[in-house]
Amino acid sequence: MKNNHMQVEAICNGYVIDHIPSGQGVKILKLFNLTDTKQRVTVGFNLPTNNGGEKDLIKVENTEITKSQANQLALLAPNATVNIIENFHVTDKHALTLPNEVENVFPCPNSNCITHGEPVISCFSIKKTKGNIGLKCKYCEKTFSKDIITEQV
Ligand SMILES: [Zn+2]
Repeated sequence: MKNNHMQVEAICNGYVIDHIPSGQGVKILKLFNLTDTKQRVTVGFNLPTNNGGEKDLIKVENTEITKSQANQLALLAPNATVNIIENFHVTDKHALTLPNEVENVFPCPNSNCITHGEPVISCFSIKKTKGNIGLKCKYCEKTFSKDIITEQV
């Protein structure tokens, strides 16, 4: 508990993405361009968890995370939590839910896809079948496994 208190509440305003699987923190930073800000971003990698495992943690100050960003996080880190911090207190926790689609986060892996030649933003619809998550490109209609997300960062 003491550990949690320090890690979560040490910023005044902003948000904390907690319980990121160890190793995914860097990918999340890159995918969502979280460091593309003048605000202070603090990251912790391989932090000990209460149950003896390891986790990554990202704190971004004076910035709001959108519901849509939070849901896209669910693809990479379904068990992560997003804490909204105001005046040193956690005022809200986003429960992550898998979005129906992800837009403009990563390019289509199909090199023949029209999204590579046209000024359109990538868009995938998300299909969950038997515990597997598939991403279907709206333009070329090919379906990819969610591994494509982490392979591209
Ligand atoms: Zn495509």
